[in-house]
Amino acid sequence: MTLESINNQDACDPLKTSIVRIPGIGSQRAQLFYRLGIYRAFDLLFFFPRDYQEIQRKSNIHDLVENELQTVAGVIEHYQTRRTRRGSVLSLEINSRGETMEAVWFNQAFLLKQFRVGRAILVTGKPQWKENGYWQMVHPRLTFLPEPDGEADLSETDRDGSSVAETEPSRDSFFDELSLLPIYPLTEGLTQYQIQKIIRNQLKKLPDLLPEVFPENFRQKHHLLTVAEAVRKIHFPQSMEEMLSARKRFVYQELFLLQLALGIRRQQHRINMQAPVLERTARINSRIRRLIPFELTDSQNQVIEEISNDMAKPVPMNRLLQGDVGSGKTIVAVYAILQAVANDYQAVFMAPTEILARQHYQTLSNLLKQSQVQIAPLFGGQKPNERSEILEKIRSGECQLIVGTQAIICNTIDFHKLGLVVIDEQHKFGVRQRASLKTGTRFDPHYLVMTATPIPRSITMTLFGDLDVSLMRGLPPGRQHISTTVADSSRRGQWWDFFRKKLQQGRQGYVVVPRVDEMEQEELLSVRKVYDELSQGELKNFKLAILHGRLSNEEKENVMEDFRNKKTDVLISTSVIEVGIDVPNATLMTIENAERFGLAQLHQLRGRIGRGNYPGFCCVFPTEVDETSVKNGPGKKTGQEQPQDSGSELRQEKNRERLEFFAQTSDGFLLAEKDLELRGPGELFGTQQHGIPPFRIADLIRDRDLLIQAKKAADEMLAADPGLNRDEHSKLRKQVLNRYGSVLELGDVG
Ligand code: ADP
Ligand code: MG
Repeated sequence: MTLESINNQDACDPLKTSIVRIPGIGSQRAQLFYRLGIYRAFDLLFFFPRDYQEIQRKSNIHDLVENELQTVAGVIEHYQTRRTRRGSVLSLEINSRGETMEAVWFNQAFLLKQFRVGRAILVTGKPQWKENGYWQMVHPRLTFLPEPDGEADLSETDRDGSSVAETEPSRDSFFDELSLLPIYPLTEGLTQYQIQKIIRNQLKKLPDLLPEVFPENFRQKHHLLTVAEAVRKIHFPQSMEEMLSARKRFVYQELFLLQLALGIRRQQHRINMQAPVLERTARINSRIRRLIPFELTDSQNQVIEEISNDMAKPVPMNRLLQGDVGSGKTIVAVYAILQAVANDYQAVFMAPTEILARQHYQTLSNLLKQSQVQIAPLFGGQKPNERSEILEKIRSGECQLIVGTQAIICNTIDFHKLGLVVIDEQHKFGVRQRASLKTGTRFDPHYLVMTATPIPRSITMTLFGDLDVSLMRGLPPGRQHISTTVADSSRRGQWWDFFRKKLQQGRQGYVVVPRVDEMEQEELLSVRKVYDELSQGELKNFKLAILHGRLSNEEKENVMEDFRNKKTDVLISTSVIEVGIDVPNATLMTIENAERFGLAQLHQLRGRIGRGNYPGFCCVFPTEVDETSVKNGPGKKTGQEQPQDSGSELRQEKNRERLEFFAQTSDGFLLAEKDLELRGPGELFGTQQHGIPPFRIADLIRDRDLLIQAKKAADEMLAADPGLNRDEHSKLRKQVLNRYGSVLELGDVG
């Protein structure tokens, strides 16, 4: 929508009034609001505070107590500045319910321009009783209170008690009860007071015009405020409880709409999607097991049961297999693949990176040497005729298993009879991602998604469109122990001594450095720099190689190949090695700038070592903070004021704690939970990654309980009215389609 069209919009609907026409805004200031995404009156109502300022209990002037911190609400009755020999004195007379007190500031004449007789304020300070019979606060904290227009002008009559605004609570009682002031996200040129006041003005009448999406009985049953109440209370709550109940209404609404959308999508899939029945007979089972070189763990057997059963049903499996790093997910996938192949169907095994895809290709080729299964590798950099030969084998069914990256296996490939898709190390798999592959049959394939990142239920329910989840805890027997140490620079020498000793014994190692294209590059040790330093210093006599995301796939593969074949001893790498790399002889890992990584990510990294017959050793180094730059106060770049010092110390302390927790915990699930607790859903579970528009107010971690309620209610509603076709659901239906119709490909509902 263009601004023009907004400005010309139907003037009859006050909710759609262009903000240019709103009193107190005008065309100049409107630009600032556009920057905040506010174009119409309606947007102001839904521009929610990011926080609230708590206002202390307010005192009447005659109840003030000398020298204790108190707050008085009132209006400015008079103000003046005086010059003295030591500077200017600004004094302010404040009237609160007919009583007067004084506030003074020395040499702060700039405050003057904000003063206006009749303006409502709060002062917070320690009052002194003055000889001539009044209370005075020196340099109190000052907060201007937003009042709707029309009331400030009545201040004179107000105070006389002769006239009080009727529609809203009187001004005095409004201020009395006001205990939270909204704090909005701002943009330069706009003050809290200005936006508070503008929004407060809009709250007088507009909320009553908002359409209510929830049917009345539904709203009551779920204890939700009306939209009008909720809008008023989220901006100017009288108490924390009010704020929370207003917030709850909007969170609920947001989650409920999403659950309706996901529910509709599921219904449509159930109707439209059929999968081939891929049964497992006793014979198939024993043939598969004969190929597996080790005894499967109980955990593995159990998830194989779940997967096997799903595949034998005529609806597509949609299962997420969560298992810690090294828990042995690959072999589970192999089982599923062989079950598909035994039923005469093809299977696809996709990995997120080329390196990992190639590694899987090798593993699977080894494992399936003795079998009839033909494997088709699909990688980048294959020559056109090589590629077309492979594609032909896929089309003809000569190859039953296709291994490659997600980028390469797409809907341009013609399969002969595709029955199963396995996606490895996927945490970006979202509701939309069931790729449309040309299966070659009238069926949709079964899906198995594997990840080492434990994903909380609230998130699989939402972002993953309600996958079925299989859990694998614990590691296969005989796994080597990994010792982890958090060290500082004073221990570097010692660590490298140890590192060299192990290399001399024939082991290999990784040195992990945060990504090369990081923003604050200077601060970070780049891979290149670390490589140079180590190859001339601590690791002078060893063969080092560099691996990072900017290398071409071929270069990466060469580096990996050399490492696997022990042509190099140490890989200096960015976190590209995080996913799934398996070199059993590598037992050493140094992680630099370790606090830059999330706990789950550190755990993934650490999972690269201790995979073979030797124990692993991991040493993490937090970024060294230059002592002098902290002591010297404000940094040159930011020019921020004092709190930086203690802030950065606190941060370091926190980082250290986080890394210690990592060092002491080997359970990936615990680490992921901690991560979530400390850093929030962040990148990994952000909605956008999963093809869903970001939430405006809901937070999947904090609002877990509401999510569960909303899902239940959405399922009930859809069970009773699958297409949301009833009149009382028409507004919900419209909102679901507006927000999720195209992203979730809901098509024509009902
Ligand atoms: P991840 O779950 O991280 O993908 P992998 O599938 O790569 O783990 O398995 C890690 C290692 O453990 C592999 O070398 C694999 O061969 C081995 N492994 C898997 N299952 C077992 C088992 N039941 N017994 C012994 N070794 C196993
Ligand atoms: Mg794996």
